[in-house]
This record gives sequence, C-alpha cells and structure tokens, in this order.
Amino acid sequence: MRLHIRSKIFLVILLCLVLGLCSILFIIYPLVETMAVKEERQALYRQANYIAASYRANIGNVNKGQIEAMAYDEEATIRIIDIEGTILLSSGSDTQTPTSVPSFNPALGIDGYYQIDDFYGTFHEEMLTVYAPLAKDVLIRGYVLIHKPMRLVKIPLNRSMSFVFLLFVFMGMLFLLLYLYLYLRLIRPIEKIAKAGLEFANGNRTYPLSVQSKDELHDIALSEIDLSKQLSETSDDQHKFMANISHDFRSPLTSIRGYIVAMQDGTIPAEMQDKYFHILLDETDRLMNLSNNILDITELEGNFLLQKTVFDINDFIRKMLLSFEGRALEKSLTFELTFESESQEVYADKARIEQVLHNLIDNGIKFSNPNSTLDIATRKAGDKVFISVRDHGIGIAKENLAKIWNRFYKIDSSRGKDKKGSGLGLSIVREIIQAHKENIDCISTEGAGAEFIFTLPISKESRIV
Ligand code: ADP
Repeated sequence: MRLHIRSKIFLVILLCLVLGLCSILFIIYPLVETMAVKEERQALYRQANYIAASYRANIGNVNKGQIEAMAYDEEATIRIIDIEGTILLSSGSDTQTPTSVPSFNPALGIDGYYQIDDFYGTFHEEMLTVYAPLAKDVLIRGYVLIHKPMRLVKIPLNRSMSFVFLLFVFMGMLFLLLYLYLYLRLIRPIEKIAKAGLEFANGNRTYPLSVQSKDELHDIALSEIDLSKQLSETSDDQHKFMANISHDFRSPLTSIRGYIVAMQDGTIPAEMQDKYFHILLDETDRLMNLSNNILDITELEGNFLLQKTVFDINDFIRKMLLSFEGRALEKSLTFELTFESESQEVYADKARIEQVLHNLIDNGIKFSNPNSTLDIATRKAGDKVFISVRDHGIGIAKENLAKIWNRFYKIDSSRGKDKKGSGLGLSIVREIIQAHKENIDCISTEGAGAEFIFTLPISKESRIV
C-alpha cells in the first residue's frame, strides 16, 4: 500500500497520542493508584495500632466517643472485633452494623494486615480494611479494624489523574498544531514539488512551481526548475541539431546529386568534369566531417580508453599549424606562437589532443577578424602545462559562454558564419580534456575575441587510463 507522506506523518502523530493514552491508562494510573492505596493503608494502620495500644489493657473499656471522633476524622468505619468474630464496638449507626463476622480470619489478609473487598459482605462497596491486633501478654484477644471506602481513597488519585488527562489533551492539541505546522511548512511544499516533478516529466515544462520557505525545499524546487529548464533546452538543442543535421546532410547530397546528374546527361561536358570532381570531393569531405563528429560524440559518451604517450606539445603545435596555413592566408591571419620553452613534454593521448587543438584553431580562424593574429601559447605551472588559443574576432557574449560547451549549440543560429559547423566541436573538446582529468575554460569579450585555455599533465603516468 502506498502511503502519502502526509498520511505517514499523521499516523506517527496518532500513534504517539495512542501510545501516550495507553501508558497513562495502563502504566501511570495503576502505578499512582498502588502508591495512593499504600500511603492510605499505612496511615490507617498507624491509626489502628494507636487505638489497639490504647485499649490493649482492657478491651471492654473502650471509649466509643473517641472511636466515633477518630472514624469521623478519617471518614472511615472503626470496629473492634474479638478473635471469634464478634463485633464488640463499631462507629456509626448500630442498626447497620452486623453483630458478628463469624468467618473472619486475619491470616487471609494481604501481608497479614489489610484487604480490599466488601469485608465478608458486611459492606455494600469496596473497602480498604486494615487491622491491628489487640494483644496482651502475647495473647491476641481481638482486632481493631478500620474500613475506608475505596471511593474515598481514590479521590486524591482521581484528582491528580484528571490533571494528567488535562495535560494529555493539551499535548494532543500541541501535536495537532505541530501537524498543521508540518503540513504548511513541509508536507505541502513537498507535495507541490512532487506534483511539479510529474508535470515536468510529462513534458509540461512551464508548470508553475514556487516554494516560499528559504530552506532546503526551496533549493530542491529551484534545482527541479533548473533541471526542467535544462531538459527543455537540451530537447530544444536536439531539435535544432536534428534540423541542422538534416540540412547539413541534405545540402551537400543535393549538390552532389545535381553534379552527377549533370555529368551523366552531358550538361557538364567531359572536359569540365575535373573541376566538378573537386567540388564533389569538398562536399563529401563535409559529409565525412559531419559524420565523424557524430561518431566521435557517440564514442566519447561511452567508456573509451585514452592511449597516453609522452610528446612535445610545442613541436606538435608547430607541425599542426602547417595544415592551417592555406586558410590563414585566405583571411590574412598570422599565427603568433609564445612558447615558454623550446620544447614542452606532456603526457596525453596525442590523437585526441590533435582533435582538441584542431577544433580550437579551426574555430579561432573561423571567428577571427581578417588581418588579425591567432595567438597560441604554452606555459608551465607546477606539474601542468597551460595551452592557450586566442583569437581577435567576434568573441562570445557573456550569456552564451556557458552554453558553447553544450552539444549541438551554435550561437549563430542562422549559421551564416559557421556553415559547416554542427555545434559538436567544443563539446567533443571538453569531453576529451575531462577524460584526461584536466580542465578547459573560455575567456571572452564580445567583439574583442575569445581565448580557450586548457591544461595537460607534464608528469609521466605509466598506466593507460
Ligand atoms: P562547431 O563544431 O559547429 O564549430 P563548436 O562546438 O566548436 O561548434 O562551437 C560552438 C559555438 O561556439 C559556435 O557555433 C560559435 O558560435 C561559438 N564559438 C566557438 N569558438 C568560438 C570563437 N573562437 N569565437 C567566437 N565564437 C566561438
């Protein structure tokens, strides 16, 4: 059975109240009753002994007036009985007092001096009876009996118990107030968050969720809203990605098909086909690039192994830049290299770091202003090498800085600046650097350029991660 949190808390409070009531009824009440009866019993016993001591010498010489006064004080009945069970004297009205109790046997009394019952049927209600022996020269000649109705013995007890019950009712009300507080401050916000979670999960990403308190629940609510936003952004990005991918696949495929048909039907004469083969090659390169990126990202999502080796990162960058010379020339860009030392050994997966540098330099050239420089620097700090690729171009607005690492994210949604991009490059870069357990960051001012800095370890590691 699935219990709601509010029912659980309510049941716990109810259980506490029931347990409280049971302990009052079955533990506290009997305990207090025993103590009250014991106290009364001992007081009456002292009294009975006092009377017994007074009349021990002459049992017949009893002062009835004194006995009556004592009985009145104690709200009890005092009787003097001989060992045969004949009642010699009794306080109160003589007509209601039996003359004898033939079966009277003090040995049957509890602890030999008291009993709680109707005293051999001589009373119509439950009585506490204590008896003290009237003994002379070790010879017991009779007993002083004091009978007090249990109803009267219990009066102080009932008074204290009513106070305990009152306290219990007060506690019950406090518990109800506690439940009300918990309901308003804890249960209701949790229910709101749970409902919002369901709504978000069902795709209702705009479901309003607000939690007033400034505690952990507020944080959970904020995280849930944030998560829902991220989910909706991811799904938006994926939508965009699918649209981009379809477009990016379709446009080269359309032109490839167009050129092949034109070659086939002779629209492009045989002597011009060489030129068009180059275009076809470019278009297939674009398709290859796109599918490679998609494959890369899928591979990086799984558990992949890095093939780490020691290599000179400075030399590696120098050689890599040769392949970018053509594109740099087209934009009149110059490469500025600032290496702290001639050579700098790092321990990393060379092929993956080539991908990282390729993507960063490719973006750098793509977004640089013509006639500017692309600065590439390496510098050592501790056991790390900091590698920076910095361009002087359009830069990235502050609000977009966190998003550029997201898969499928492209700032220029019209894709005018970045026709071939799929928005996967930087997320591949970050996955690779994170797989090396290193960091990458981007500093940028919109309109002034962007700098990407990442670290690699200098120290050798013998294992392959
Ligand atoms: P792509 O694979 O399409 O190049 P990236 O993930 O590499 O995508 O980059 C994502 C987006 O980040 C690009 O569309 C671009 O808008 C922005 N960006 C990346 N590098 C730079 C840069 N050096 N200058 C300005 N914007 C950049």
